[in-house]
Amino acid sequence: MLKRNLISAKWTLLSMLLLPLCMMAKKERILSPDGLTYLDVKLEDGRLTYSAGYRQLVKAKKKGAVPDTLDVPMLLDSPLGLYTNVADLSKDLTFIQEERPEGGTHKQQYHLRQSKQSEINSEENGLVLMFTNPEAKKRKLMMMVGFRVFNNNIAYSYRIMQGQGSQTTAIVVTGEASGFRLPTDATAFICPQSDPMVGWMQTKPSYEEGYIWDEPITKRSQYGKGWTFPCLFHEGDKGWLLISETGVSSNYCGSHLSDATPDGLFTIAFPMEGENNGFGSTGAQLGLADCNISPYDWMTQWTPYRTITFGPTLKPIVETTITWDVVEQLYEPSIDYKGSRNTWSWIIWQDASINYDDQVKFIDLAANLGWEGCLIDGGWYENIGRTGMEKLFAYCKEKGVRPWVWYNSNGGWNNAPQSARQCMHNPIVRKKEMKWLHDGGVAGIKVDFFGGDKQETMRLYEAILSDANDFGIQVIFHGCTLPRGWEKMYPNYCSSEAVLASENLYFSQGFCEMEARHACLHPFVRNAVGSMEYGGTVLQKRLHKDPDKGNTRRTSDAFELATAIVFQSSGQNFALTPRNLTEQPQFEIDFMKQVPTTWDETRFIDGYPGKYVVLARRHADQWYIAALNAQNEPLNLSLDVNKYNVKDLITDEGNISNTVSLPLKADKKGNVKLTVLPNGGAVLF
Ligand code: CA
Repeated sequence: MLKRNLISAKWTLLSMLLLPLCMMAKKERILSPDGLTYLDVKLEDGRLTYSAGYRQLVKAKKKGAVPDTLDVPMLLDSPLGLYTNVADLSKDLTFIQEERPEGGTHKQQYHLRQSKQSEINSEENGLVLMFTNPEAKKRKLMMMVGFRVFNNNIAYSYRIMQGQGSQTTAIVVTGEASGFRLPTDATAFICPQSDPMVGWMQTKPSYEEGYIWDEPITKRSQYGKGWTFPCLFHEGDKGWLLISETGVSSNYCGSHLSDATPDGLFTIAFPMEGENNGFGSTGAQLGLADCNISPYDWMTQWTPYRTITFGPTLKPIVETTITWDVVEQLYEPSIDYKGSRNTWSWIIWQDASINYDDQVKFIDLAANLGWEGCLIDGGWYENIGRTGMEKLFAYCKEKGVRPWVWYNSNGGWNNAPQSARQCMHNPIVRKKEMKWLHDGGVAGIKVDFFGGDKQETMRLYEAILSDANDFGIQVIFHGCTLPRGWEKMYPNYCSSEAVLASENLYFSQGFCEMEARHACLHPFVRNAVGSMEYGGTVLQKRLHKDPDKGNTRRTSDAFELATAIVFQSSGQNFALTPRNLTEQPQFEIDFMKQVPTTWDETRFIDGYPGKYVVLARRHADQWYIAALNAQNEPLNLSLDVNKYNVKDLITDEGNISNTVSLPLKADKKGNVKLTVLPNGGAVLF
């Protein structure tokens, strides 16, 4: 791969000189393996910029001639560079050398257990450019910028190298010049970054703000703090573009985007000083790569990847695997981790249900449904206690259900009162806790209320994952940041909230009114780059333990069943309650008994963010097609099901209170005509 091939570069020569060896061509172009995605890099007046787009085939004028191509720019001239405590590497750059990976196009094949696709074949072309500037030269340092171009995706990152005799082995990155310039008439589907230390018990930011939908990109964000990843943009007829980041481990901070300038430039923004109760730096501490760096030690040396996915339709965005293509697994899984469907009392029965007797009811529910797990949420330490929990663990074992246990991440960064607290923040206590969980047969933990995106907090995420893996335990994060390649980097990572999740249906009727719109947004944005712990499939009409209380759901049962397919997370904490077993039609329960949570393949069929979505996912040899409609008008679909082995249909007939199960009827050509009602859904399987 690109990084490995770099090792063959002639470092000694390079490090001796630190002088421009040759002139960089005014513009370098890298094409994707299919030749249809381009990335241009330019050095002008000491500043490095890049731009990107796709190439449209234009019919050849003469019959039989090779078709011509036309550049369709999606990302305009955008700055590159790093700000560090030893040098401003955004200006006065001089080119030293370039390296292209040996052997041309690099192909890799890897397995991804817990995301949208299980066997991934990716192909990329790469280019690494090396620069220095007067400040860096004084310390014998150089900056490498690595570009990786895939079909419909580009990614880049930086690496600071020590030249021979350099006394500088560590630096602080205080910011990035990395930017993303879009045409000013583009529109955005983006989520504002919150202020720090606000919200429930000062637990924000946690990626739970309201999106702007299809609005001008230059709109000021709600808090003036920019926008969180991923960020989706619509460039009219030219298509769609998604910006995100991946490969963030303990070695860097999480980033987001600034507000755009009036001429359409977003830049990388680092965490806010107030996050994590003011503790930890907003920058990133970086150990530098020396000339003899091992190919297997690259995670500590490259900065996280900035990823950009684009194309004329939404297909490349929904199906992208760039988040995982450019990162590597950081440790071996200690056991063979599996997907899990869990019951979860808290989502409808709330805090009062975190007691021994109610947990028994939800363990029984999981056993009845043939599900793998039951999540015991916050408050168990006071209300059930360790002895009670051990009894529940034993009961789970008897019932063939694996427990999942909630933790507060605290620590000292917020005032969230829920227990168990003080178990996850410190390695000595944490390892003891993991052993206790392991001895109790616990399959996973859900850790809540993190302190933001500083490197300090990224270290905590990684420490929890790494310790949990030592004990064969999976991890869900809640009240947290976006995962950034973690499904591949950490094999016991399950999923993260980082979205306005189903709890908001319980908290607010307004959110119930918006449920369908949100559901039709996530496949194109949040869930396109990372597993999403939403906690969905509510089948009760009202969101309360008492059937006559609580907010009223506006979606149909078919809609809720379809979200079990649309929302991707290898561990799903579904919102079913014991009442559903007797109140719902049997076919709905039967569907939930067999619904998978891990996917071998995902295909985008149709949709528009916030309006409707039609997706197909395959588990083993069974396809599921799911459709959701958030519009005020019925959605008429004609689906070609030839490629999918579907024979049953669950949808709404006449009105959304009438979800029915029908044998699927396709015409002679294999097309199925289907009308999906407003706030309704359909599943073909
Ligand atoms: Ca939350």
